[in-house]
Amino acid sequence: MTPSERAAFNAGIEAARQMALTAAVTLKVRDDARQVRLQAAAAALHGLAAGLHAVFIAPPAGTDPMHRVMATIAADPAGSGAVECPDCKGRLAWARDSSNGHLHAQCETPGCLKLMQ
Ligand SMILES: [Zn+2]
Repeated sequence: MTPSERAAFNAGIEAARQMALTAAVTLKVRDDARQVRLQAAAAALHGLAAGLHAVFIAPPAGTDPMHRVMATIAADPAGSGAVECPDCKGRLAWARDSSNGHLHAQCETPGCLKLMQ
């Protein structure tokens, strides 16, 4: 991509990210926002926005294993899963809270990685 193409691409990604966040907020202020399906939709939109940021906007992944893992999780539409631990190559199980979008992850290796974001 040329620099101007890259700039246009980044602007499009940012617009998509903003639309996802706007849609999430729109769901959260509805009278029936407490319905589980609306909470799940809002959480998924937050995940989409985070994934777009992590994959396309944030500095290139690949150099930082932790960043790569977080980008992988952010881009996953599921509410939970497991990825390879960047520290010990074990199994890092993660779950996203459907009500507030917080991410919890813990490596199965005792004493290894544990995080909440
Ligand atoms: Zn580990």
